[in-house]
Amino acid sequence: MKTLFFDKITETALDFCGKLIREGELVAFPTETVYGLGADATNTDAVCKIYEAKGREGDNPLIVHFADPADIEVYASIPDKALFEKLSAAFMPGPLTVVLPRKDALSPRVSAGLSTVAVRVPSHEGARAFIRAARRPIAAPSANRSHRPSPTAASHVVEDMDGKIAAILDGGTCEHGVESTVLLLSDTLRLLRPGAVTREMIEEVTGREVLVDAGVLSRVEDVRRVASPGMKYRHYAPQAPLSAVVGEDERVCAFFAKAQSEGAGILCYEEDLEYLAKNERTMSLGSAEDYAAQAETLFCALRTFDKRRVERIYTRLPKEEGVGLAVKNRLLRACEFDIIEV
Ligand code: AMP
Ligand code: MG
Repeated sequence: MKTLFFDKITETALDFCGKLIREGELVAFPTETVYGLGADATNTDAVCKIYEAKGREGDNPLIVHFADPADIEVYASIPDKALFEKLSAAFMPGPLTVVLPRKDALSPRVSAGLSTVAVRVPSHEGARAFIRAARRPIAAPSANRSHRPSPTAASHVVEDMDGKIAAILDGGTCEHGVESTVLLLSDTLRLLRPGAVTREMIEEVTGREVLVDAGVLSRVEDVRRVASPGMKYRHYAPQAPLSAVVGEDERVCAFFAKAQSEGAGILCYEEDLEYLAKNERTMSLGSAEDYAAQAETLFCALRTFDKRRVERIYTRLPKEEGVGLAVKNRLLRACEFDIIEV
């Protein structure tokens, strides 16, 4: 298949891509988190194409994207309206996905056999214009091949999806760089995946405690009872083996310097750079507590190591506060929980 590439989001591009969606084709589009791989969420054949193009496990459900929070009720039940109102007023549009009981208007394939559906309203103007042009709810996981780092620029989508999908809409680089926060709304509020909307922000807006699911920071032991199927799989991984290095700053830097001299790739903090040699295998994730910068850099840096054919990578692991929790979660999955204490 020839993949059409639109280097700008124009009215013509939107009309064309909206029609492709209604015809059951796949279109990659930018959002404020990462690039999404979109299909008509009401069309089972179209949704199946997403799993095929990504090589995604069939039991890992998709997020359905809407242009307007008011459209969600057509496709999902909202048991606690007051709670939903608070969340949607604060974070919709925005990088928050909520998991709700599903309704029948959606293809059952978006939920991969679950009775729930994950829904979100992106804040990226181009993303919402695309959804409006399609006149359909858009099922969209990240537009990478499964297990690869998520795409934060259209060029990353080309690397993984060229020839496999109908079109790519280029809307520049993504603002946040990590996927949306996923929150299960039931009797308790449970964070299934951390993102740019933080646990602290949700607690402030709802006045309720947010539980962090065990799968966010640890390996999922019992795969039958996992709350979010995506937690079971290796994710975001570069080609080279990756390990996280933790300990006092001085010791971590000494470890990095030695590994660097042996040819390893290093993903360090800005503050570490002065203790390390400058080379193309050493990249800064951002300042130690600038979690937003780290989130923005993370996936692009992992892809860059692949391009530079690095054979071993060591990384810092940020704290669990604010957006740091999201960065830590992605790095733990990328390194498959391989942590070296120094
Ligand atoms: P991605 O599409 O790559 O952004 O991944 C979507 C994430 O949301 C995966 O980790 C899924 O397991 C999770 N997810 C999607 N739908 C549901 C759902 N109905 N219940 C729980 N988790 C979900
Ligand atoms: Mg993904």
